[in-house]
Amino acid sequence: MLCKIGEVEVWRILEIYGPFLEAEALFPSAGPDVARIIEAHAPGSIEAATGKMILPVQGFLLKTPDHVVLVDACVGNDKSVPHLPEWHQRKGTRFMAALAAAGVGPADVDYVLCTHLHPDHVGWNTQLVDGRWVPTFPNARYLMPAADVAYYAANPNETYEESVLPVIAAGQAEEVGPDHALGDLIDLIPTPGHTPGHVSVRVRSGGAEVVITGDALHSSAQCWHPEWHFRFDGDGAQAAVSRRVLLESVSESGARVLGSHFCLPSLGRVRAEGAAFAWDGDV
Ligand SMILES: [Zn+2]
Repeated sequence: MLCKIGEVEVWRILEIYGPFLEAEALFPSAGPDVARIIEAHAPGSIEAATGKMILPVQGFLLKTPDHVVLVDACVGNDKSVPHLPEWHQRKGTRFMAALAAAGVGPADVDYVLCTHLHPDHVGWNTQLVDGRWVPTFPNARYLMPAADVAYYAANPNETYEESVLPVIAAGQAEEVGPDHALGDLIDLIPTPGHTPGHVSVRVRSGGAEVVITGDALHSSAQCWHPEWHFRFDGDGAQAAVSRRVLLESVSESGARVLGSHFCLPSLGRVRAEGAAFAWDGDV
């Protein structure tokens, strides 16, 4: 178990932890020194030989007294991500092994909560069975941001067709607004920009709180530099506004923060520092 928030167990479901793309390419507005700055703030983030950012792809399993909730479903197997070879047509076992290690099988998951509909967050929504994409979690309701569903329905890509549409066709999808609550212990925080409907996820129980960022941030170094744009932010200016609002909120509340793409263990707290913020890891 990664941590316990009151009555809620939080488990890391790690699929990939390795070099992704060069830091300069990922943060195009951050200047030529970006790799050095990231490595100074978040040691172990940059592969020295290549300058590539080492990025975990992970979901989080929340076991509440009432529900088993998977927040984000990673890249998945056999998926078409032609522009990113590391994610294209994968044949991995690690995601399912992590789920099993948390004591959960696919049939046990009650909810799959998608922070947004990008390929590294919805992949295991479906799996290929006899040449057809079918929901991986047969008993789950899949909660998807309504604004993302609307956007990708109008602009369909491989991810939508392989990992979203089959869930809708199976009648298991539920479009949710940006302030949706799932029971008493879990609710969404609107953080649009990375995608139109992007949300972060808050868990509160027994006086404790954790916020799962999703892709509102991609590195803890963005605490110091919330203005950095990320290459795959759909609306970079809006994403920067959402990032700063989220950082303000968690620095004021003192909530623990789980950065979906932060270096492992990806867990820490944010505090205000100067005109921006600082990250205190693993506290
Ligand atoms: Zn992502």
